[in-house]
Amino acid sequence: MGSIWLRELDVWLKDAGLDCEGWPGWQTRSRSSGGFNGVRGIVIHHTAGSSRTPDRDTCRYLYERADTRPIGNVFLARDGKVWIGAAGAANCQGKGGPVMTSTGTVPRDDGNRWMFAVEAGNNGVGEVWPKAQLDAYVTLVSTLCRRLGLDPMRDIFTHNSWCQPSCPGRKIDPAGPTPSHPTLGTAGLDRYGRPVIWRHDAFRALVVAEMARTEVVPEATLQLGSQGPSAWRLIEIMDAWGWRKQARPNDGKFLAAEIDAVKVMQAALGAPVTGVYDDPTEAAYRAFGDFLASLGAPQPEAA
Ligand SMILES: [Zn+2]
Repeated sequence: MGSIWLRELDVWLKDAGLDCEGWPGWQTRSRSSGGFNGVRGIVIHHTAGSSRTPDRDTCRYLYERADTRPIGNVFLARDGKVWIGAAGAANCQGKGGPVMTSTGTVPRDDGNRWMFAVEAGNNGVGEVWPKAQLDAYVTLVSTLCRRLGLDPMRDIFTHNSWCQPSCPGRKIDPAGPTPSHPTLGTAGLDRYGRPVIWRHDAFRALVVAEMARTEVVPEATLQLGSQGPSAWRLIEIMDAWGWRKQARPNDGKFLAAEIDAVKVMQAALGAPVTGVYDDPTEAAYRAFGDFLASLGAPQPEAA
């Protein structure tokens, strides 16, 4: 039985400014395998449900009535509200994989025990995705990546891309027109009148940009002997980018290993290599964040 339960999901999502509500019993709901074995990735889906179905009816189906309940961990409604349905592993991913993630392989056909599942309301046959829902989708996945320590460039999959290695084409979701988020590449339907399948790398880029936009950057100066919340945050950043050789878990203390890490960070960012997280280093990191955020900026309309 898996032992990982995401019982702080509601707090995480509210902190991120998302409108959310727990469906009764969510803290203890899971598939028969219990909690997650680990959370190595996030898979995004659409429900293929009608826009005329009330959200509460959808939740009742996903979490209480479906034979394969719970279907997904959360339901993202068309108005951007997140309904939390299951803190433990859910049914949703089905056959697919294996895929590599930043923290290891998710074995073939074993996505449910290793990956978080988001079900978003969309009929999947051409319904236009509202901006509020897409904004919430990006915020939701960004928040999960940050809280779970996941790498947005490696650990986010569409249901379509999860299926790709072993059963390509088994699932198309998510798909369909996203006029407010044209980088998903889905201006409408393809030439056969089918909704266009989202590319997972395009969604990943939106999440990278959102994480850069909302990142808390520590203030200079941090140096040998520094400790506390700012030091902890910088170590977290250096770990996320692979700049620190992780001799020990992050304890918020600046020792020799952290000075070495700052030097690696400075070299990577083109800042003077001093071993001190100083004003030029902070400025270089902020500029790097601005660049990443620009990757997700709306693209100019095609002429
Ligand atoms: Zn799906």
